[in-house]
Amino acid sequence: MPETFKAILISRGEDKKQSVAVTELTDAELMDGDVTVAVEWTTVNYKDGLAITGKAPVIRRFPLVPGVDFAGTVISSSNPDWEEGDKVILNGWGVGETHFGAYAGRARVKGDWLVPLPDNMTARQAMAIGTAGYTAMLSVMALERHGITPNRGPVVVTGAAGGVGSVAIALLSRLGYHVIASTGRPAESAYLTDLGAAEIIDRGELSGPAKPLAKERWAGGIDAVGSHTLANVLSMTSYGGAVAACGLAQGMDLPSSVAPFILRGVSLLGIDSVMAPKELRLEAWWRLADELDHGKLAALTTTIGFDGIVGAATDIIDGKIRGRVVVGI
Ligand code: NDP
Repeated sequence: MPETFKAILISRGEDKKQSVAVTELTDAELMDGDVTVAVEWTTVNYKDGLAITGKAPVIRRFPLVPGVDFAGTVISSSNPDWEEGDKVILNGWGVGETHFGAYAGRARVKGDWLVPLPDNMTARQAMAIGTAGYTAMLSVMALERHGITPNRGPVVVTGAAGGVGSVAIALLSRLGYHVIASTGRPAESAYLTDLGAAEIIDRGELSGPAKPLAKERWAGGIDAVGSHTLANVLSMTSYGGAVAACGLAQGMDLPSSVAPFILRGVSLLGIDSVMAPKELRLEAWWRLADELDHGKLAALTTTIGFDGIVGAATDIIDGKIRGRVVVGI
């Protein structure tokens, strides 16, 4: 009998309705790839929530094992870059969308998709960071490339108590920025201040229709929310500033005007973690290993087991998860 491992499998019936089941798979049932990894830690990102609840068409091939990121150890490899025993991280590349993903004991993927686990980071820490935290770092790097340094003025982080937001606050404050955290959860004020937020604002200030231009409040920002919130963030960005847009928790729309761009020279920086080139990924992960405070990472992380994944997927869509959830496989 071949060895089996536990997996979550999402199927779709003729009525196009999704169903989620926990099953046992064998290596032979995994998809093509040149590296097989024992998944040790994974996480529940917002996108995983959308995939499991079926709230958005994240999954584009059925049946599919969801889960867009994992950390683990290479079991076998025919890729010259990897050998048995290597510790690796995977984020994106369609894993958990079109290719069997992280919510299984094993994953078989293309070696080109993997990055090495930094020496000074554990697999658990890597997934406490996860795609949300790696996206926060990509956003910080984009602001830096645009010259948004701490001396330019405050930066705003929206969706502050969520995964991207929490890691972004910890990173930006460590780098010396004055961070304004926008949240709908005032009860999490102490949590956000401990992460490094210097000011906290109610997300209601940003969630309604935006004026073309409003009073200049910040030099830039990281926006995980989209829609009216991003429009307001742009309209309140000071001359020459920049906003890194990475999320859509409020909506995918952007009801804005060109005023911030053509009258204040504001830039909108698009952030995509899924297809980001390898050099950028390596830089982001090395910087996360060096620059993310371990104590703050622990403070923003909740640990669950395999059986908690489906519940956490619903909770993240309902905005009930604070910070990051890490899953031990
Ligand atoms: P979380 O659910 O952890 O965080 C989202 C936060 O947004 C919530 O905690 C909440 O923050 C806020 N929020 C939720 N709903 C609303 C609403 N209706 N209006 C205003 N604010 C709202 O998700 P993640 O941090 O994991 O992901 C955040 C976003 O980034 C998602 O849209 C995700 O798809 C996207 N993303 C994009 C990536 C990319 O490659 N571009 C990669 C990773 C994530 P609070 O309670 O503080 O108000």
